Amino acid sequence: MSADEVYDLVIVGGGPAGFTAGLYAARSRLKTLLVERLGFGGQLLTYEKVDNYPGFPEGISAFALTELFSAQAFRFGLESRNAEVNGLDLTNSVKTVHLADGQVQARTLIVATGCAPNKLGVPGEAELIGRGVSYCAVCDGPFFRDQDVAVIGGGDTAIEEAIYLTKFARKVIVIHRRDSLRAVRVVQEQAFHNEKIQFRWNTLVTEIRGDQQGVDGALLKDVETQKTEHLPVSGVFVFVGMRPNTGFLPADLERDKAGFLVTDQEMACSLPGVFAAGDVRSKNLRQIATAVGDGATAAYNAERYLEAQA
Ligand SMILES: Cc1cc2nc3c(=O)[nH]c(=O)nc-3n(C[C@H](O)[C@H](O)[C@H](O)COP(=O)(O)OP(=O)(O)OC[C@H]3O[C@@H](n4cnc5c(N)ncnc54)[C@H](O)[C@@H]3O)c2cc1C
Repeated sequence: MSADEVYDLVIVGGGPAGFTAGLYAARSRLKTLLVERLGFGGQLLTYEKVDNYPGFPEGISAFALTELFSAQAFRFGLESRNAEVNGLDLTNSVKTVHLADGQVQARTLIVATGCAPNKLGVPGEAELIGRGVSYCAVCDGPFFRDQDVAVIGGGDTAIEEAIYLTKFARKVIVIHRRDSLRAVRVVQEQAFHNEKIQFRWNTLVTEIRGDQQGVDGALLKDVETQKTEHLPVSGVFVFVGMRPNTGFLPADLERDKAGFLVTDQEMACSLPGVFAAGDVRSKNLRQIATAVGDGATAAYNAERYLEAQA
């Protein structure tokens, strides 16, 4: 491979963090490739509307926002490839990115692979995915018109999605293992005032039941009294946190206890020339606004790294 076939920067992941990194790198005239395994947009492809990203006073459709992100980066010459990255060789100063259909070389890397929903891990869950078990209210909510559904979790996403599901469902039962919610106060208040939403506190789901036709209920256990109960519902929406998409990364790249990548404030990871941005990072607010900030910072510092190596 000749030297000019080596990319200055390869970005893994085409969500808000990846495309912002791509925009900054391409405007700096770095030879940059963004690799995305699915459609461009990341998690934005799984929901409908964004109301808290600055610059859009009326909110914006999540899909429209992804199109704006990618169009802006491509205008400055960002290259892209649709492939899964399934391994990295970071031992040399020029790194090798292993794709499902080949490999590319890179002087620096930005990992912007986001995260994916945690599973409950109870009997019936895996078998009934797509037949009543869901991790995306926007994708599957319309299938539950005038039916009763359960939402598992007590954080922002769970409660926002419970509110969203009331557009379709007859009743939404929020099942939470604690006696209070973690969601921000304004979202909690909306949920408490919504007459379609009921709460089951201090309660675990121990099994999801159903058959080929779909979910017909969930087995609940009260953690205080240990009493069990069969809750008849036709949908179970699980929102119990996220896990980072880091399975393809070498083990010696430092992670936190939950497996998210540890970076410094310049988005540099524990190995030279490797940066991380967005939801895959160890941090306490995973949003579009923080992902784009990370992406810009990572690209800026990847460029500084390249200058120092030259
Ligand atoms: C239901 C829901 C609602 C939300 N609502 C809001 C909201 O209203 N406002 C807000 O600010 N945020 C919201 N968020 C969070 C926001 O979407 C994320 O914080 C943001 O998308 C993170 O961007 P990212 O680029 O870090 O990662 P992601 O958006 O997760 O993108 C990562 C990309 O990397 C790709 N990838 C992963 N592994 C590989 C691999 N090995 N090879 C190639 N590609 C790979 C993935 O396919 C994905 O496209 C919501 C999230 C969810 C799930």
